Amino acid sequence: MLHIGYHESSSGGYAAMGKEAVSVQADTFAFFTRNPRGGQAKEIDADDVAEFRAFAAEHSFAPLVAHAPYTMNPCSADPGLREFAKNLMIDDLHRMSFTPGNLYNFHPGSHVQQGADVGIDFTSTMLSEVIAQCKKDGILPGTVILIETMAGKGSEVGRTFQEICTIIDRTEEKAGESLKDVLGVCMDSCHIWDGGYDIVNDLDGVITEFDKVVGLDRLKAFHLNDSMNPCGAHKDRHQKIGLGCIGFEALARIINHPALKNLPFILETPNDHNGYADEIKRLRDAYKE
Ligand code: FE
Ligand code: FE
Ligand code: ZN
Repeated sequence: MLHIGYHESSSGGYAAMGKEAVSVQADTFAFFTRNPRGGQAKEIDADDVAEFRAFAAEHSFAPLVAHAPYTMNPCSADPGLREFAKNLMIDDLHRMSFTPGNLYNFHPGSHVQQGADVGIDFTSTMLSEVIAQCKKDGILPGTVILIETMAGKGSEVGRTFQEICTIIDRTEEKAGESLKDVLGVCMDSCHIWDGGYDIVNDLDGVITEFDKVVGLDRLKAFHLNDSMNPCGAHKDRHQKIGLGCIGFEALARIINHPALKNLPFILETPNDHNGYADEIKRLRDAYKE
């Protein structure tokens, strides 16, 4: 079965997000753990979580894909901002522990003139510290942290599979252990396309390359987006499914690819409720069991 959903507003709580998902034939969803610009998160409402967990079990939900605020920069040159990102992620993972078994993805950050290598080092330091603290707190394993593949806009790190691999390797080095059960990757079709991976003409080649460099066992979720720009544009502007430069057929090949077809797919396309319901329906129709 195709596991698919879209990035929902979390303002009404978990139970409301679950019901909205079912109303568009989704069996997963993404959401921001707090205001995407950072800042205070709402208290977790235990009744809301309990209601959602029963509902999700009843409707056989696939893992959810929570999204960290995109303004946090784990590889900022400013130690205060790095500390802020670390504490925010630890707090988010505590919040995720109320709904265990789900995924939490984040952007590895922008190195802003420090160079990718310095950026990657800061990001892996933060990850190893976050994971150590959360293990001490007894909440990991439980949630899998996912590094998102980025478009390479500005000085974003994580634009190539090699950079993603280096972040993982250095994090494990610093942790002194394998982190297979707590650290993975979320692939974003708009981002890798904008980053220069030709998923239209050579999806197999791109997947093989990912497997060789990072390992497919690390891939836990997929952001399914069309792109407003051509391959290699490094722009990161999402388009509705089928209306962009990737196109419906190539996106349908992604959801049907044997190495990908069981992942949770999240739409981050510019749509309203009806637009998402329509995209989900068309993709379900294109999915071969
Ligand atoms: Fe993202
Ligand atoms: Fe994304
Ligand atoms: Zn994006």
